[in-house]
Amino acid sequence: MEKTLENLQKNGFTVTRCATKEDAADYLVQTLHGKSVGMGGSMTLEALDVYDRLTADNTVYWHQAAPGPDAMEKADNAQVYITSANAISQEGYILNIDGRGNRVAGTLMSKERVIFVVGRNKLAGPMAEALDRARNVAAPLNARRLGKKTPCAVDGVCHDCASPDRICNALVVLWKKPMGCRSMEVVVVDEALGY
Ligand code: SF4
Repeated sequence: MEKTLENLQKNGFTVTRCATKEDAADYLVQTLHGKSVGMGGSMTLEALDVYDRLTADNTVYWHQAAPGPDAMEKADNAQVYITSANAISQEGYILNIDGRGNRVAGTLMSKERVIFVVGRNKLAGPMAEALDRARNVAAPLNARRLGKKTPCAVDGVCHDCASPDRICNALVVLWKKPMGCRSMEVVVVDEALGY
């Protein structure tokens, strides 16, 4: 874990450590005031139960809590974007697979701040293992959660399917902080969270 966190910082990502998901939620609430905030689809953020608290002092767009035809677009265009990651490699790379592309777009567009909240279960080994985690752990569990008719939802393993329900259409690997983003931060929670 320590090596991974060190490499994240070498790659330009700020690292914040929290002992529990409650601490992580408190941190987000304390650090965000008067901002437009977009949130990506995430079981980790669901576990933090932070949406209502953030709305008290920010304008928050999250399709999981307040669905709407343009909820994802507004989230992508917010000043701050919060999401999780499917995996973080030992080299300090941040991986996310996406079906629609809104979640990965939210982490790429020029922003004041992007925040990834990750449980310690998301910290993988070297890049190949991190990619394997994203494809064979996170994606099948998400497909099952979303009720997708994909082979992975049945047996929990990626078949690189051609299903119309396929949720793996874009892979973004953040090797380093993109130059257009002022701050990119990984909040590492010392608990297992999300997929
Ligand atoms: S089987 Fe299809 S939807 Fe499931 S993880 Fe593989 S590519 Fe993604």
